[in-house]
This record gives sequence, C-alpha cells and structure tokens, in this order.
Amino acid sequence: MSQPIQSFDKTTTTSGDLFLPERYHELLNLPLQRPIIPRGAGLSYSAAASGNHCLSVDMRQFNRILAFDEEKGIITVEAGIATGELNNFLISKDWVLPVLPGYPAITIGGCIGFNVHGKSQYKVGTFINWIKSITLFHPDTGLQTCTPDTELFQLTVGGMGLTGIIVSATIALKKITGNLMSVEAIKVKDINTAVALMAEKAEEYDYIYAWNNFNLRGKHFGKGIVYLENHLPDRKELNPKPYINKLNRFKKIPVLYNGLTVKTMNRVYELMNALQPRQRIIDLVQASFPIYNKELYYYFFGKKGFREYQVIFDLDKWQAAVAEIQKIIAQMNMPIALGSLKIFKGEPHNISFSGSGLCVTIDVPNNKKSISFFEALDKITLKYGGIINLSKDSRADANLVKHCFPHYEQFKQGIHRYDPNQFFGSEIRTRLDL
Ligand SMILES: Cc1cc2nc3c(=O)[nH]c(=O)nc-3n(C[C@H](O)[C@H](O)[C@H](O)COP(=O)(O)OP(=O)(O)OC[C@H]3O[C@@H](n4cnc5c(N)ncnc54)[C@H](O)[C@@H]3O)c2cc1C
Repeated sequence: MSQPIQSFDKTTTTSGDLFLPERYHELLNLPLQRPIIPRGAGLSYSAAASGNHCLSVDMRQFNRILAFDEEKGIITVEAGIATGELNNFLISKDWVLPVLPGYPAITIGGCIGFNVHGKSQYKVGTFINWIKSITLFHPDTGLQTCTPDTELFQLTVGGMGLTGIIVSATIALKKITGNLMSVEAIKVKDINTAVALMAEKAEEYDYIYAWNNFNLRGKHFGKGIVYLENHLPDRKELNPKPYINKLNRFKKIPVLYNGLTVKTMNRVYELMNALQPRQRIIDLVQASFPIYNKELYYYFFGKKGFREYQVIFDLDKWQAAVAEIQKIIAQMNMPIALGSLKIFKGEPHNISFSGSGLCVTIDVPNNKKSISFFEALDKITLKYGGIINLSKDSRADANLVKHCFPHYEQFKQGIHRYDPNQFFGSEIRTRLDL
C-alpha cells in the first residue's frame, strides 16, 4: 500500500511522486506545475491520495499535538498524526476520539478527507460530527481556518483533499472513566436475525457490528456473530503500547484465498469464535482497532489483492436489496472472504459514506469475476438507492457516483469554486469527473 518516499528537490525538478514536507514553510513552496494531492498514511483502498502525474504531499511529519483542553475535552492536532498515536495519548488522559476507523496508522487528515466512520456511528455519527475547526492551506489563499458553519468546512470534510491541505484540526472528544470494554458476542442464525438484533440494541451499546458468513446458501445466508460493546466505567488495567504499522511488513506471502479456502476460512472463524466466551473484556486499543494484529488477512490475498464493496441501504430497503445480493452471490458462485454489517444513523453528507441505514461490507479476491460481481452489485445499489464508500472502491465511475449521491453536482461545483485553478488532483478526481 505505501509507496517508497522519493527524495524531492524542489529547486531543480518536479519529478518526485511523493514529497514529505517537514514544516509549514515547505507548503508555501510546493511546485504547482502539476496537480498536487495531500496524503495521510495512503491506506485508502482507492487512489485518493495519488494519481498519474500528480505529486502526493505526505503529511505524516505534521504529527504534533498543538493544544489540549483536558477539562473540556478538545484537542488541536496536526493532520498527519496517526489515530493510534493520538488514541494512546488520549486514553492516558481519560478521553477518546469518538469516531475511529479500523486501523491505527490512519491519520486525522485521512479521517477528515473521507469523513470516516468506525463502529460507533449509530450513536455518535461520522467524523464530521466531532470536528470543531480545520486549518487548511491552499496556494491561492494561504492558511485559513474554517468552522462547521462555512461552506469550505463542509466541502473539506469528505472532500478527498480537493479543497486544500489540512494542516491541523480541532476535535471534540468523548470522556471515559476506564480503559476496558465489555464485549458480548451473540451468535445469529441468519442475516435477518443479525439486523433485528443490531437495530434493537443500537441505543444500548457504544459499538455494534457483525461478522456474517455470506458463503452460506438459502436460509442460513448471513449466519454469524453480532458484537455488542460498551465502555466499562471506572476500570483501568490497560497500558497502551505504541503501535507499529504492519500493513507494509510482509513481502512474500503465498496466496491463500480461492473459492474453497475462503469458505473454509469463514467456517474456521466461526468455530474459533464459538470457543470464546459469549461475554468477555477487552482493552480499549483492541476494541478501537479490530484489524490491528490481523493484518495477515490482507496478505493472504497475494499480489493481486482484494476488492471491497461497502454500501448503505435504507432500513426499509435493505431486505429486498440483500435478497438480490444473495441471489447474485449464488448465481456467480462468488467466494466471499468477509461479510460484515454495521448500522448507521445520521445525516448524509456530500459524497461521503454517511447517513442512516444498514451498511453491508463484502470482500472478495481481486480477479475478473470480482469486477462483474461488483457491476451486478452496482445495479442493486442503484435500484435500492444505496450509497457506496468511495474510500473503499477503486473502480466506481462518475456515472455510478452521480446516480448514487444526490449532492454530487453541488459538491463538484463547490470544490471548483475553492480550487478554481485545479491545483489539486488525484486518480479519484479524474475517475469521478470531479
Ligand atoms: C485496515 C483498514 C481499516 C479501515 N477501516 C475503516 C473504517 O472502519 N471506517 C472507515 O470509514 N474507513 C476505514 N478504512 C478506510 C480509511 O479510514 C480511509 O481510507 C482513510 O481516509 C485513510 O486515511 P489515510 O491517513 O491513510 O489517508 P489517505 O488514504 O492517504 O488519504 C485519504 C484521503 O484523505 C485526503 N487527505 C489525507 N490527508 C490529508 C490532509 N492533510 N489534508 C487534506 N486531505 C487529506 C487524501 O487526499 C485522500 O483523498 C480502513 C482502511 C484500512 C486500510
């Protein structure tokens, strides 16, 4: 996923694909002969922080905590700080980021760029709900700070780096009194039972999500486990350790997944979970980043990797939509490496992954069949008014996205107004005709 950082001499050449500025003054001298695009950890599944002939500006040296109001729970950080680092600091002060995507190397800039969610969105919404202000650099206007009541702020959150480089952000935090979480893992016999349970318990739990086996046919489709998690008050036993980004660690892992092994793997996961107690206590770091220490899952897809389809359907439409998805999986005999559900409540925002409804996630090995499968899923998405997650989709085109998101045109016009010379550009901007 990460590219090697090339050295970049701005006085003589513009040939570097990746530039790692160290401090603010270097932003003032960015070469503008070709499109630039800010980059966090580069962990989006789509090329939103890179592009042909673009210069990616790696913001990870901008990783300081600038201000912290421990009484009010408000923090100002530079955009390149990793959520894992920040989380460790905050836990030690009895605060947490209310919304955390699944991997600790993801940066605050990346969280804003895609208005990310975690497992808490039913109760606390997506990242946008917690940002108090953003300081942004644009070559035309220099540094400016914007707040939620401004158009610039609204375009920047979920704006995929196309309104400028976020230098820092002020974020509201959630108070905790302990650093452990209680987890209840409830087995469900099919997808209907899973969704009914999630909807029933949504108000009671801080985090809710489900693992579902989408390889099973007929009435067992979606059999799985619903995880219900709550912060445990007043218990402190965790000593947060620094995290290591393990997503670019292994080079030569054999491809493990195929039609047969994927099905077996799902079964093994189910059996392993059956051996765990229904109720257990885990530490907050593990609960915040469920994929951390499970990175091998990605490596076993081999060099060709995998594709993820993530979609939100309204709660009154998901059943019909999922029935069609189930049919397509069976017709195409599609091996599903991962099936998962989350539940969302909130306002839709621009072309970001937000709103209310059921979120369905499907991972498959990347091959020709996966493209036709995703095209079939697109038709279902459009038929039932679903929206897709652009941070996870490296192939969706402008036509699909225009039809998925009613605010597409408005968003496009907005980013043109704030970046009239189109200094900012990326593969996703070109692909989605933004
Ligand atoms: C293992 C894993 C688990 C994940 N789990 C979740 C999840 O639970 N929920 C979820 O919503 N997403 C999830 N994601 C997706 C991820 O949260 C987003 O793709 C996120 O944007 C990646 O952040 P990043 O720091 O890697 O940013 P990048 O991928 O480098 O950039 C993402 C976008 O943000 C922009 N950007 C980055 N930094 C800045 C900046 N300083 N100024 C302006 N724009 C900037 C970039 O231009 C780009 O358009 C997951 C990804 C992985 C790999």
